[in-house]
Amino acid sequence: MNSIPGGLRLVIASANPDKAREMQEVLLAVLGDRVELVARPAEAPVVEEDGETLEDNARLKARAVRAATGLSALADDTGLEVDSLGGLPGVRSARYAGPEGNAANNIAKILGALEGCDDRRARFRTVALVAMVDDAELVATGVLRGTIATAPRGAGGFGYDAVFLPDGGDGRTLAEMGADEKHEISHRGRALRELAGLLSAYLPDNERP
Ligand code: IMP
Repeated sequence: MNSIPGGLRLVIASANPDKAREMQEVLLAVLGDRVELVARPAEAPVVEEDGETLEDNARLKARAVRAATGLSALADDTGLEVDSLGGLPGVRSARYAGPEGNAANNIAKILGALEGCDDRRARFRTVALVAMVDDAELVATGVLRGTIATAPRGAGGFGYDAVFLPDGGDGRTLAEMGADEKHEISHRGRALRELAGLLSAYLPDNERP
């Protein structure tokens, strides 16, 4: 694979500031100044996330921002899959409680759907995708298994973090963990670390981590 002259510049295509911050923190931890991360321009179009899969939606977002900027663009799409709900809300996680669904409404709906349910197993799945300027596409997936708590706890993180208890943890929800601790185990952390490995093939030999 050819390295890109002038180094690697990537626009973070996410319009969600919480996600964009996490993407930036994880990529910088792996690639440091070997990659230049560019903020999503405010005028970039907001795309309808109407794909059938997380990968479709990540591709829609990354391609729209690549077209708007002329730069390689990184997007992710994440879903919460609850076993006893047949994998829902999945690709519909953002709008689970309706088109205006915010985190509090989405959490209330999940807790209601699981009321009295013993099987609270779930997983977060993130697909991270880079649409490169040379038309190549890099794709990586990360999964975090856990269970849905019976009530929200914690003020950190975002989205469904306050009701997600990671497997193998100490009983804290993701929203009760620090950012680095979440990245270490999270779906997004895993997907982005794998993606960083794929991206390093685009760096000049002497800059590969
Ligand atoms: P999207 O990837 O922005 O479409 O996110 C889908 C839904 O999952 C939104 O409701 C987000 O708030 C939520 N979400 C995405 N990533 C995370 C996460 O790391 N923790 C908790 N909720 C998340």
